[in-house]
Amino acid sequence: MGVSMRQGPESWQSGAACRGPQSQAFFPPSHAERKEEKLAREARAKAICAECRVRPDCLDYAIRIREPHGIWGGLNEVERKQVLERRAG
Ligand code: SF4
Repeated sequence: MGVSMRQGPESWQSGAACRGPQSQAFFPPSHAERKEEKLAREARAKAICAECRVRPDCLDYAIRIREPHGIWGGLNEVERKQVLERRAG
């Protein structure tokens, strides 16, 4: 999720593995992105999430605030929406 771009009061953010230059992988670029570019970018971000010790907190936070963009907690916006829908039953 590129924590450096999203400062906030959440204490777990200090343990985020996506701080620094690799944070670019967590959000779409300003130019149009082809599907295969998006998939490759998201795969890079998700690989970082897989090693991140605050992943559960990050995912819960993104779902709680209905974050509409980017990779958070290893999931993209569509995948988070699916989690929300499952939780809603
Ligand atoms: S789970 Fe992913 S997006 Fe969330 S803080 Fe960790 S590396 Fe960043």
